[in-house]
Amino acid sequence: MLPFRLVYSDGYYLPIGQHVFPAEKYRLVYERLRAEKIVSPEDFVTPEPASDDDIRRVHTREYVHKLKTGTLSPQEELMLEVPYSPELVKAFWLAAGGSIKAAELGLQDGLSFNIGGGFHHAFPNHGEGFCMIHDVAVAIRRLLHDGKLQRAMTVDCDVHQGNGTAAIFGARTPTGDPLPSASPCVVELKQNGSMTSGPMGEVFTISLHQQNNYPAWKPASSIDVNLPDGTDDAEYLAWLDNALSSAFRRFEPQLICYIAGADPYREDQLGGLALTIDGLKQRDGLVFRVARARGIPVMVAYAGGYARRVEDTVTIHCNTVLAAREMMDRTAVRGV
Ligand SMILES: [Zn+2]
Repeated sequence: MLPFRLVYSDGYYLPIGQHVFPAEKYRLVYERLRAEKIVSPEDFVTPEPASDDDIRRVHTREYVHKLKTGTLSPQEELMLEVPYSPELVKAFWLAAGGSIKAAELGLQDGLSFNIGGGFHHAFPNHGEGFCMIHDVAVAIRRLLHDGKLQRAMTVDCDVHQGNGTAAIFGARTPTGDPLPSASPCVVELKQNGSMTSGPMGEVFTISLHQQNNYPAWKPASSIDVNLPDGTDDAEYLAWLDNALSSAFRRFEPQLICYIAGADPYREDQLGGLALTIDGLKQRDGLVFRVARARGIPVMVAYAGGYARRVEDTVTIHCNTVLAAREMMDRTAVRGV
């Protein structure tokens, strides 16, 4: 039995047909974790779908209505990059409910996983980049609403910038568009890559991503680390360490939402960084160690992963659980 719990449902499967997004990866991660006895059945918690009220704390009434009535425009469906269906809506509501549950368990146990979610490209008024609903933002807003949380931090290590997260939590207009004043200032610039600082409110957002990749327009996160093509393990870990140190000088979160994308992997089809499987596990370990040293609970959501071999994506996601177990083995006490 693990000193933390994992939220999972077979309902996380995204019914999108043949697609670069491996919709079956959640089930494959679940089965691998079970087969290799990394987790026991009692470590898993089954999520409930988020309520419409939960979703509307992040997304506009109009967008939610379109999703529930199947009235997205062809252009809106195109931006989503996954085929709309009522079943897909159901899967995203469930992923959001899973992140709410994981956030609650994270606060309670010190660490938790949603074996899904991390849909960080969803905006208040539209979805894009395979992301219909921003499950992590929904979870944060729910906990803020319930008074369980006043300050949260997102640490987004997917290879693609967390544009939805930045738009939701940055300085913004009522329609969700960032204000002109939210344009970032460069606080650190090296020969390769840069770290920029942007708006900061009740949620501090960090994104480490490949600069020359989707999304073309990157609204300012509280910290953006813009990495050059081919960034390797050592360079990546140094940037991550630097970004976390810089963030904690400015902000004290009560919960870290770690978006642990598998796509910085060097064999990823949609990424251009050069991390190894071992380097990605070190990345996970670094986030967990830094959080643990400061006594800050963490919830994990999975986000992207498009390795040529789906087994590699599954290994990277399973390794995040292993990294957490290795870090917590001697220190965690469930329920404290
Ligand atoms: Zn991604």
